[in-house]
Amino acid sequence: MSKTKNGIILKTAREIEIIKEGGKLLRQCLQLVREAAVERARTKDLDQLAYDFIVSHGGRPAFKGYRGFPATLCISVNEEVVHGIPNNRRLKAGDIVSVDCGLAWQGLIADSATTIAVGEIDPKLQKLLKVTEESLYLGIAQAQAGNYVQDISRAVQEHVEGHGFSVVRDLVGHGVGKDLHEEPQVPNYVSKDKGAKLEPGMVIAIEPMVNTGTFEVVSKRDGWTIVTLDKGHSAHFEHTVAITNNGPMILTNGE
Ligand code: MG
Ligand code: MG
Repeated sequence: MSKTKNGIILKTAREIEIIKEGGKLLRQCLQLVREAAVERARTKDLDQLAYDFIVSHGGRPAFKGYRGFPATLCISVNEEVVHGIPNNRRLKAGDIVSVDCGLAWQGLIADSATTIAVGEIDPKLQKLLKVTEESLYLGIAQAQAGNYVQDISRAVQEHVEGHGFSVVRDLVGHGVGKDLHEEPQVPNYVSKDKGAKLEPGMVIAIEPMVNTGTFEVVSKRDGWTIVTLDKGHSAHFEHTVAITNNGPMILTNGE
């Protein structure tokens, strides 16, 4: 492990391999949650399912206890963007449910999120999910050595806004490794700062959060849940990705 001049911790090939092992387990965990996210399911039951799966396989839920967060998953329904706390809420047909999970494996963290449709959802929401996931993969395609973080941001933002949706500004992707949030920040929008130059050994979580209406968000009184200001729906897709000499390597797709 070594550090770049702007404080980014580079990972060895072995460390990247470990994150990929954890990422495989994480993918399986999210798949289980997807299958269980049906009408009438309580979000806290989904959380328990994820906790049991991770712990029984020798991993550690990386969110639990992070700055006091109480759960294994962040579960954010409809107008909730991210960081929702699992509770007694029962899912309804037509809901969209963003599920975010961090899994520590041999001391290294993999971070991934997906948004699930419960039953039949509105065609506009189907489009929201499709465009958000597409924007993630377009961002990943820019995660090339020699590019800048901003190349990722631009790819995400152009796709999202080209389809009439908006990208959240207040929350961003991030480096990930021993810590859940490391340098660099990975915004989903273009600012004046082109950000860090990408080099082999960097591991970053790319995570577009996309809203149907305004990009503005606010924090709920629980101190965690982020919701859209206009109560429009929001989707979230995330992968942990390594920058390599052979292009981006997705560590959380289960392959
Ligand atoms: Mg995440
Ligand atoms: Mg993340």
